[in-house]
Amino acid sequence: MELSILLRVFIHRYKVGHDAEIQCARAWKVNINNLPLVDWENLRKEYRSKKGFKRFRITKAIYRQWATMSREKSWNRSSSAFCPLCKTHHETITHVFQCNHNLMKLNRMKAIANFKSSLIKYKTSPILVNHLHRIVQQHCGGFNVSDLDPNSVLASNEHLKLISYVLQEQKNKIGIENMMFGILSKKFCDCQRMYFKTNNFGRNYTIERWGR
Ligand SMILES: [Zn+2]
Repeated sequence: MELSILLRVFIHRYKVGHDAEIQCARAWKVNINNLPLVDWENLRKEYRSKKGFKRFRITKAIYRQWATMSREKSWNRSSSAFCPLCKTHHETITHVFQCNHNLMKLNRMKAIANFKSSLIKYKTSPILVNHLHRIVQQHCGGFNVSDLDPNSVLASNEHLKLISYVLQEQKNKIGIENMMFGILSKKFCDCQRMYFKTNNFGRNYTIERWGR
């Protein structure tokens, strides 16, 4: 029941005070007051643009229903909660991002490289590319995600200040793991809009396309 409520919110619209807020906040471990910061518009477009198995996969990710061993064990569908690859850690969602088995490391490297090249392909602000890349690497390496150096931000331009602000909002109010599932602050689009305004790449590079 709770999942179907959540799903309807994605398909239609997110509204403050909706019943689904509680379910979202619980599934994503986000303070309910911070949910309006999420870029619902683009999340919904992404969901709608996928069909069949791809849509099913997004749904599973949004609801945190990956069939990890920890989850299977808690549902009595497996006798072990350990990761089948490294066999040293319980396989939680966080562990899937951070497992040190060679096969996982290799796949992760490929995924991070693809992520970076798609950001570049859509003419993402180079400062934003570098920081998103750094954050993903830090998170997947099991490190705490660091903030931008406040001195470099103070001395620098408006674009960098906005990027610093959005990264802090993502980290402190929406969450880095949620970011890995595409649950992002609306302000990422503001950063990129600012970059497009000062760099004209032609009509193929619009904020609407970039957001997706
Ligand atoms: Zn593992």
